[in-house]
Amino acid sequence: MLKTEIVEKIEKLKQEKNAILLAHYYQRSEVQDIADFLGDSLQLSQAAAKTKADIIVFAGVYFMAETAKILYPEKKVLIPDLNAGCSLAESCKADDFKKFIEQHPDYTVISYVNTDASVKALTDICCTSSNALQIINSLPKNEKIIFGPDRNLGNYIKSLTSRENMLIWDGACHVHEAFSVENIIALKKQYPQAKVLAHPECKEQVLLLADYIGSTSALLAFSASDNTKTYIVATESGIIHQMRHKSPKKKFIPIVSSNTLNNEVDDSCGACSNCEFMKLTTLEKIYDSLLNEQFEVNIEENIRKKAERSIVRMLSL
Ligand code: SF4
Repeated sequence: MLKTEIVEKIEKLKQEKNAILLAHYYQRSEVQDIADFLGDSLQLSQAAAKTKADIIVFAGVYFMAETAKILYPEKKVLIPDLNAGCSLAESCKADDFKKFIEQHPDYTVISYVNTDASVKALTDICCTSSNALQIINSLPKNEKIIFGPDRNLGNYIKSLTSRENMLIWDGACHVHEAFSVENIIALKKQYPQAKVLAHPECKEQVLLLADYIGSTSALLAFSASDNTKTYIVATESGIIHQMRHKSPKKKFIPIVSSNTLNNEVDDSCGACSNCEFMKLTTLEKIYDSLLNEQFEVNIEENIRKKAERSIVRMLSL
């Protein structure tokens, strides 16, 4: 099927079935272009909260679709590819996390939204990279906190808040963790006027080189409002599609991962770090998902209810 043909069919099915397509900024460009709502994890949860659609098709990874289902169990939530997982969520298994929490019974548990529903069910308050600082700051200074699962975001927030009683789970996102420091240094030499934009899931050595650190949506907003002409972007490369869209005259250069480091880096994103889970969603799979109403996300009710509390607490702060 031609791209225009498949897009038309998707639009028709969305209307017939009162469905909405939510897409994360890390999705393929052609998926971002047809989304009814595009955003980062927090924005997508908020969009799911407002929709009157009966069906939500989630072009993202599984924990995001699960989050929508946790909040809106009466809606049919579909994910176009069941293999769209997340290495960060995988790095924090509920059984292990539960044991860790049991070893520290008087701690408040804050979990990044990049977790399975069963981990959210063990959590007091969820957070995203957009609101993690605000949520930690909402707690008394002497509160004992367990922060999971991202060690880089956790250490970054800990350094900003000077919290002494903050235990950090040892998890990470394989994409952000792998950005090459050597590549950033080489690019800074090549483009001395460029600013480095970094997501707090990056390791500390990368954050130390950054001119601006923020969530995906914060990086996008900064690049649109700032008056620099060139940016070195240390987050998943999908966001560059929107950065170029908002600032067509600026240059955005993705970072390669340490594993793929070569000297032929350009801004076409051919050698940059993509999240393979995010890129699993294609237009064809979205069409199949809508047509066959597959693959439906379901969560055991007692897990869902406990997980819901942690997300609602986050949304209310
Ligand atoms: S970029 Fe990292 S945190 Fe985001 S979905 Fe992919 S693996 Fe998970």
